[in-house]
Parts: sequence; C-alpha cells; structure tokens
Amino acid sequence: MSGNLFIVATPIGNLDDLTIRVSKVIEQSKFVLAEDTRVTIKILNHLGLKKQMISCHEHNEADRLQALAQAAAEGESVALISDAGTPLISDPGYQIVREAIALGMKVIPIPGPSAFLLALVGSGLPCDKFVFEGFLPDKTSAQKSRLEELRSESRTLVFYISPHKLIKNLTVLFEVFGDREICLARELTKMHEEFLRGKISTMIEKYSHEEIRGEFVLVVAGMSADYESASVTEEEVRTAIRAEFKSDRSVKDISALLSEQFHWKKSDVYRLALDEQKSARSE
Ligand code: SAM
Repeated sequence: MSGNLFIVATPIGNLDDLTIRVSKVIEQSKFVLAEDTRVTIKILNHLGLKKQMISCHEHNEADRLQALAQAAAEGESVALISDAGTPLISDPGYQIVREAIALGMKVIPIPGPSAFLLALVGSGLPCDKFVFEGFLPDKTSAQKSRLEELRSESRTLVFYISPHKLIKNLTVLFEVFGDREICLARELTKMHEEFLRGKISTMIEKYSHEEIRGEFVLVVAGMSADYESASVTEEEVRTAIRAEFKSDRSVKDISALLSEQFHWKKSDVYRLALDEQKSARSE
C-alpha cells in the first residue's frame, strides 16, 4: 500500500488552462494539499469538485508529512497544488515530494502552466539551453554577487521578479551585465499578456515613466561572443547614460562604468555624458 502523489499544475491566470486530467486526479485523491485553501477552492469550484483541503505552505510543510504518511499507509492518493502554476517551482512542495518518495508513493506530475517556460519560449531568445534562477535575493549586495556569478553564463537566463522590485532589479542587472537584450513577459495567459523585448536601459526608461502593474518574468540573453563584440550605437550609449542619471553617480563615474560595459573609450562616453547633462539641464 503506498498510493500516489499527484503534483498538479494549475493556471497562472486563465482558468481555461485547467485540463481534464487535473479534474480526474483531484477527484481520485483523498485530499488536496493546498498552498492557500482560499485560492484552491476557486479551482475546485470551477471544476465542480468537492474535496477536503489541507493547507500546506512554506511554514507548515513539515507538519503535513504525517497526513501524507497516513494516506500512503492506506494506499490513498494525494494532490499537491500551489497558488498558481507548477508546485515546487519557486513554490512549496519539495519536502512533500521527498517524503512521498521515502514512503514509496508513486510521484506523478500532472502537466500544466509554469510562468518561466511560457516566458522563455515567447521571449525570442535562445531556448535550446537555459538557466532558471527563480527570484534574486532581496538585498542589493546579495543580488549583485549572484549576478556577478552569472555574468559570463552563455545560456539564456530566466528570473521571477516582483513588480515593486522591477526597476531596482533591472538597475542592478544593468550595472553588472551591461546593456543586454532582455524580454519582460507580463501577465502571461491573462487578458493583458505582453512580451516587451529590448535592451535593459530601454526597459528602465520605459518603466521609470509608467505605473508598474501585473506579474513579470524576466528573460535575459546569455553572454555570447556575438553579444560581446556587437557594436553599440551612440544612441544606445546615450540611452544608458540617461538611465544612469537616475542613480547618484557622478558623470565621471557613469563614464567609467559605461565605458567598461560597452567597451567604448572613457573619453567618448564622458563627452556624450556631458552633452546629455547639458540637454537635461536646459529642458
Ligand atoms: N509556481 C509558479 C510557476 O510555476 O510559474 C511560480 C510561483 S512564484 C511564487 C510567482 C512568480 O511567478 C511571480 O512573481 C512572477 O514572476 C511569475 N508569474 C506567475 N504568474 C505569472 C503570470 N501570469 N505572468 C507573468 N509572470 C508570472
């Protein structure tokens, strides 16, 4: 007697993404381990199912192992559901899966949406090899260190990002990576879904003037020989300078930073920075 653990992916914004299989496996489970029962009840209602739910989030996951063991002993199945998308992907569930394996349960993932995958395939950046990094650390210093470790990664990088940290994360990314190509995948599967593709500096400029709303995935081009040697236009350097004016850096520091990032002569960046400063003052 050991039962099944179904890892059930659920929609990230569009209930039409619920599948027949999701409905079937929930129906045949003894109970649902739900990250937030108030969210999962909407899924159950939509599917017309009534099922016992037990909350299972990052702070009580360990306490749920007993209920899992009981189900396994009775040969019953259990469904694991997070608030949105695929459980365990920047969501709770890892301990439950480990325990299910230890208990001899069959672990059966039920496919469905995950924001990182949709963002990656819609980004227009290479998908043959990629790295999923989840959320960056909160502290700027830790963020910088992590990004420095990733700076020379040649695979496409995918990050989850909170809307209120978007500008800060992009600014740190720009400082460490230079002005790479990125894609911001916003509100995936929802009515206002969009893919914003361009340089980091362009996105910083855009969102410095706009209200930041919705959920985002950030996809970043990996470092490649082509990218490194790509010629950077004067307008791109000017855009980067204007973005840097929002920091506390002096014109001299900005020139040093950007000359290194763009492989331009410091004196050329300095000349453009003075010019941009003059235009900003006369506005
Ligand atoms: N388990 C989820 C999955 O499989 O995608 C991810 C959960 S994680 C706590 C939440 C993050 O996923 C958000 O901050 C955002 O970066 C991303 N995300 C979730 N839904 C999204 C959507 N509809 N559009 C864009 N990003 C989304």
